[in-house]
Amino acid sequence: MNSYERAREFAKKYVDPIATKIDEEAKFPKEIFDKLGEEGFFKLMIPKEMGGEGGTIKDHSQVCQGLAESCATVGLCYMMHNVALMCILGQGSEELKKKIVGEVVNERKFCALAYSELGTGTHFYKPELNIKHLDGEAVISGKKSMVTSAEYASYYLVLAPSKKEGEIDNWVVPLGSEGLKFEMENWHGMGMRGNASCPMELNDVHLDEFYKIGEWGSGLGQVFTIVAPFFILGLASVYSGLGRAISRAAVEHATARKYPDGSSLANIETVQIHLANIYNRVNAAAALTAHAADKAVRGDADAVVDIIAARIAASEAAIETSIDAMRVGGGKAYNKSGPLERLMRDAYASQIMAPSVDVLTIWLGKLITDQPIP
Ligand SMILES: Cc1cc2nc3c(=O)[nH]c(=O)nc-3n(C[C@H](O)[C@H](O)[C@H](O)COP(=O)(O)OP(=O)(O)OC[C@H]3O[C@@H](n4cnc5c(N)ncnc54)[C@H](O)[C@@H]3O)c2cc1C
Repeated sequence: MNSYERAREFAKKYVDPIATKIDEEAKFPKEIFDKLGEEGFFKLMIPKEMGGEGGTIKDHSQVCQGLAESCATVGLCYMMHNVALMCILGQGSEELKKKIVGEVVNERKFCALAYSELGTGTHFYKPELNIKHLDGEAVISGKKSMVTSAEYASYYLVLAPSKKEGEIDNWVVPLGSEGLKFEMENWHGMGMRGNASCPMELNDVHLDEFYKIGEWGSGLGQVFTIVAPFFILGLASVYSGLGRAISRAAVEHATARKYPDGSSLANIETVQIHLANIYNRVNAAAALTAHAADKAVRGDADAVVDIIAARIAASEAAIETSIDAMRVGGGKAYNKSGPLERLMRDAYASQIMAPSVDVLTIWLGKLITDQPIP
């Protein structure tokens, strides 16, 4: 069984039964995250010698897609964990790795990303947090605008200006740090409603330098070499999964909806064309995502080009096919009978998440013409 099949098996058993409830109640699916921990998904990317499963970026992609096919919120929150963990594994000190990996493996803790700020928005790699440096520790103040898995994740990867002029650093902020506060009352997402993506306040949070990742000023390098590939491919995977869910739901609706003469929507040629186009779009995006993951596993120098292309394709396919699927779904889908309306609302997050699809499209244009990004 590959990682996609494993995630699908898990999601059919635990996620499908409560996917509608997660959206309706807009509540983080803690029970599913407890199960993900129990079944070893949190340690997917941890090397075997450290007690993990030694997964590759392809396993990361397949699990995110498999979970998102049942619920994009579950796929996205899980994806953030792997991304933050990869940064810690890649450049954290041995002591930091030992502590966090130990807690992920033995206590089933998981991580999240706290990058975006209200001011710099989609340009998250230009953080404006206030940071003071004392002897062996930093004091951080300011606000992150949207932090998925807020209050539930045990560790938050936070990007802050560096002691080294003009540079940035990644820090790990533990849940429960004094001065750390979440504004859950300010999460009102139109979709991805179980995400708990609320603002995070840091009020003079004291952090030992133990929690800094890598050398002073190495944050931007970490963002572009570790966080970006795992995050952008992760988003491509989540929205490939959501796209497949849209295609499946549209087909199910079209075949189940019968007219008084016994014929179904699926017998109508216009509907057949819509369904065929949806199927092609979402499967092309999923295939591009799988291709990008293969290139990343091989370490191809231009893998990032395909990763960005996959994210753009998967995001646009999810949004655009959700519009056609709603058309096929008619008044029933509009009146929230079946999942199509939820899937459409979830799809709209795909173009926004930083770096946004507009920004990535420009980056892709630059990369294929040998120009530097960002
Ligand atoms: C469901 C969800 C979950 C999220 N979870 C997290 C999380 O866990 N952690 C986190 O750090 N952040 C998270 N975010 C935040 C997200 O990643 C974005 O950074 C943030 O929403 C963008 O902020 P903004 O609206 O201020 O963007 P703005 O900077 O105002 O950009 C808005 C739009 O303007 C356009 N635009 C802006 N600049 C350019 C440019 N240079 N070129 C081309 N177009 C441009 C783009 O179309 C962009 O989408 C989440 C967002 C969503 C929707």
